[in-house]
Amino acid sequence: MKANTADKLSIKHIVNSKITSVDFNNLDFGKTFTDYMFECDYVDGQWKNPTIKPYGPMIIDPSARVFHYGQAVFEGMKAFKDDHGEVWLFRPEQNFERINLSSKRLAIPEFPKEFFFEGLTTLLKLDKDWIKPGFGNALYIRPFVIATEPAIAASPAEQYKFMIICSPAKAYYTGEIRVLFAEKYSRSAHGGVGFAKAAGNYGAQFYPTNLANQAGFQQIIWTDAIQHEYLEEAGTMNIFFRVGDKLLTAPTNDRILDGITRKSILQIAQDIGVSCEVRPVSVTEIKAAAQEGKLKEMFGTGTAAVISTISAFKHADDLYELPELENSYASKLKNTLLNIQYNVSPDPHGWRYKI
Ligand SMILES: *Cc1c(COP(=O)(O)O)cnc(C)c1O
Repeated sequence: MKANTADKLSIKHIVNSKITSVDFNNLDFGKTFTDYMFECDYVDGQWKNPTIKPYGPMIIDPSARVFHYGQAVFEGMKAFKDDHGEVWLFRPEQNFERINLSSKRLAIPEFPKEFFFEGLTTLLKLDKDWIKPGFGNALYIRPFVIATEPAIAASPAEQYKFMIICSPAKAYYTGEIRVLFAEKYSRSAHGGVGFAKAAGNYGAQFYPTNLANQAGFQQIIWTDAIQHEYLEEAGTMNIFFRVGDKLLTAPTNDRILDGITRKSILQIAQDIGVSCEVRPVSVTEIKAAAQEGKLKEMFGTGTAAVISTISAFKHADDLYELPELENSYASKLKNTLLNIQYNVSPDPHGWRYKI
């Protein structure tokens, strides 16, 4: 999709910043938003009028197709501030490519690269005081696209809005996560939209996840929709298992989201000499490894929490508690990744992107 390059980014400035009213030590994840937001409209077959303006509510027609047919995709990324006050993104071109991959699957027109990067970098410069230095502090960035055309015929919309909103975040510590291996419900199926960051993938998980919560488990590890035998992902995180000294994770496919944290962790593991196997991982094998004491760690990877350690899992009537580990792979991999993200260590793979 080509940008209408005659369109210049327009900026409407705030009168007063909200920042002094925010307690940065007590932030609920995703509930506080910065001063500005970016938006761009798709009309008459073109993305037009890229604009940055004060964050706030907007008017959308009740017949907008997003409300009826769920044409909505999003991304999740973070900006970090180093000790010299410089702001960095982590592999943002991957988020750009992935939102267009998601859009394509939902029959949404792809967004132009020029608009994405110009909008994003300008927005971050305007909101830079909202990014605090120190490990764990970050600005969570949420680009998304919705179908805004007021027309309830069941077909792809002809009008869309691309937006970016930003939310300051403290370290997103999930605590000890206990998980259920899915036996009945499925998140995605072969040929479906599991690989896309589509809003509907989340909506469909909430009910089974509520049931898991009631049983004392924070998350579900989704399994393949046919046999419920192969462990796929956690639905907001990709998943790794450490059996003996080896890390295992499922290969990505059209049912599994290709996480940027996952691929970065795989690379870092290789860099620091941790051996990894990317192959289908079965429930039977993980239960056997747990029984034999060979299952050392399980963890999820994703932008929000980076790495979340899993302390227990349940499948059928069998509950397994994982031992607490010093010098875990999870903490080693997480620290190496954070050091790159916060510009503490060298960046051998060119992952940092300076704002
Ligand atoms: C976003 C997401 C992830 C994690 O991806 P990252 O790029 O590492 O943040 C994993 N699974 C699903 C379903 C997701 O939506």
